Amino acid sequence: MEIDGSMGEGGGQILRNAVALSAVLLKPVKIKNIRVKRSNPGLRPQHLTAVKAVATLSSAEVSGLTVGSLEISFRPLKRLQGGSIKFDAGTAGSTTLMLQSLMPTMCYASKPVEVELRGGTNNPLAPPVEYLQEVLIPVIKKMGGVFRIELVKRGFYPKGGGIVKASSTPIDVLKPIKLLEFKGVKKIRGLSYSCRLPGHIVERMANTAEEFLRREGYDVDIRREALQPNDPKCSIDPGCGIILLAELGDGSVIGVDKLGEKGVPSERIAREAVTELLDEINSEAPVDKHLGDQLVIWACLAEGISQYRVTKLTKHTVTSLELCRILTNCRIEIEGIENKPATITIEGIGLRRE
Ligand code: ATP
Repeated sequence: MEIDGSMGEGGGQILRNAVALSAVLLKPVKIKNIRVKRSNPGLRPQHLTAVKAVATLSSAEVSGLTVGSLEISFRPLKRLQGGSIKFDAGTAGSTTLMLQSLMPTMCYASKPVEVELRGGTNNPLAPPVEYLQEVLIPVIKKMGGVFRIELVKRGFYPKGGGIVKASSTPIDVLKPIKLLEFKGVKKIRGLSYSCRLPGHIVERMANTAEEFLRREGYDVDIRREALQPNDPKCSIDPGCGIILLAELGDGSVIGVDKLGEKGVPSERIAREAVTELLDEINSEAPVDKHLGDQLVIWACLAEGISQYRVTKLTKHTVTSLELCRILTNCRIEIEGIENKPATITIEGIGLRRE
């Protein structure tokens, strides 16, 4: 199958999803025009490591695997039996985006798989590890997929060096998911974190977010974590950020995060995170805009009809839906328009582990 990497959103996610589906379906793919619309087109170290990792799990033959490559061929030969593997992006390449590609392959392996990934754990435009732990993995668990993810060491741009361990238990088939109703916010939790920075930064981010959210009437509890170099979890480079998690009435979680930036006051970072969270909450849907695209691949592999309502239909989500439809022939319906809340229906193919 030939996939045009410039379709829709045109980013690395097309490559990651295409390779993941190729590996679990044991269907060879050729992906052309990889990230051609980006200012740094082709494979970046993060994408390269993700493809290598999925190739190892599926004994795939791959060509075109160099930084900057605009085209790869990926021919998976068999599903992994289980075991332990380690991969290092060698840069601050996002470990969580590598996991996006790896997780479907991991759970369709015949025995438990353990992976250790090195790179960035808190990157711009990528989920922080806590997002996977608190938002994505609980939903996959409801579908029957079991993952454990441990953040061993934080990694920030530019050196990375963060360590994430992930393990999976094999599943026979994924169950579909229904997440349609918004049942109000029970509580807002969060984490204000930093590495190698003065402790007042996490305090100021957490205090600002708590103050704003309490003023809106929410029950809020934000944990503070200011790591210094003597802590084994502390990163090589300095960095900070805030993660906010709204627990909804049905147990769903909406997640938002902001990374700190040099020269930007901590209060502003926190206020931006709060504004984004309030926007998500006010859309009155149980699936946040990022989970909306990350769930597509799982729903398309599950057996039966999944339905979920997203706070915002993003181009990433529409692109993932189109890619999954091309590769699996699953039936998809979208009720709504881009950038607004929408309901997604996916009739999954019910892939079974052999
Ligand atoms: P490119 O550099 O080509 O744009 P990329 O490989 O860095 O691509 P994208 O294709 O943009 O990545 O995909 C980013 C993925 O990260 C998407 O699945 C998106 O939902 C997710 N994501 C981005 N920001 C966040 C966030 N703050 N929280 C959770 N998930 C996020």
